[in-house]
Amino acid sequence: MDKPPLIILLASPRGFCAGVERAIEIVEQALHKFGAPVYVRHEIVHNRYVVEGLEAKGAIFVEDLTDVPEGVPVIFSAHGVPKHVPEEAEARHLFYLDATCPLVSKVHREAERHERLGHQVILIGHTGHPEVIGTMGQLPEGSILLVESVDDAQRVAVQDPDRLAFITQTTLSVDDTAEIIAVLQSRFPRINGPKKEDICYATTNRQQAVKAIAPESEALLVVGAPNSSNSQRLVEVARKLGCKHAMLVQRASRIDWAALEGISRLGISAGASAPEILVEEVIAACRERFDVTIREIKVTTENVQFKLPKILDETALSA
Ligand code: SF4
Repeated sequence: MDKPPLIILLASPRGFCAGVERAIEIVEQALHKFGAPVYVRHEIVHNRYVVEGLEAKGAIFVEDLTDVPEGVPVIFSAHGVPKHVPEEAEARHLFYLDATCPLVSKVHREAERHERLGHQVILIGHTGHPEVIGTMGQLPEGSILLVESVDDAQRVAVQDPDRLAFITQTTLSVDDTAEIIAVLQSRFPRINGPKKEDICYATTNRQQAVKAIAPESEALLVVGAPNSSNSQRLVEVARKLGCKHAMLVQRASRIDWAALEGISRLGISAGASAPEILVEEVIAACRERFDVTIREIKVTTENVQFKLPKILDETALSA
């Protein structure tokens, strides 16, 4: 029997960002340079496939520094860590490498700068996400106010509206964050902050690419993990644009084929921590059931690259 035709609208950019590539490279280079095992505090990036691949090469993932023995390197994940984590590592004389994305570190420095200027800091972000825990942990406990929604922004009580600043998580919805900031700015007209927000280029570009394909897609698959903030936001962005069947899928084996029955246009994207090989796997699974035509919709080109820490950078060492 002939397979039904399916047009795949492939969002571009999608998948790995420069911060994720750098974090994975740090673990791989550390394994190469120091040998296995190398410990990693928290999933280096939120993707099981990536984590399992690194485990197979000798990385050991732990949630707490107390689980790291003496004498082995430990790496902090791309999401960033509260200040007490490197302090604890130093107190124990552990050798650590920081794989925090430079764009997250930039937000950490903003928080510190605001504190120095005497501004109370409001962080727009999601409770419990490791990046939020890391950013809040840049200042003394209890000093950063967390705002998650427009409701929170309407209610948040501040010490002095004239000495106030906001910063944001890097992987939020661009549109939802703009609404939250608008509320803060109307309540506190003198609030300080970045020009727009601190959402990173990769999150912004992936959301734009999903916006370009969602209105024409009868269903949309975002390859990514449930604990990946930027992947979850892509699903929400697609749903907001009327694509009801927008779903997160970790692997091709998890696709809900019943939900795709009878469709002829499928959008596909991937979160910043999802490798392209998993997108290829999803497309290959579609080809088994459909006569697939691929149309890649590119909204922008990315060429961001981040340097490795000096101790791992071969070019820096040989320069
Ligand atoms: S999603 Fe953005 S902030 Fe997070 S690692 Fe990638 S570039 Fe850095």
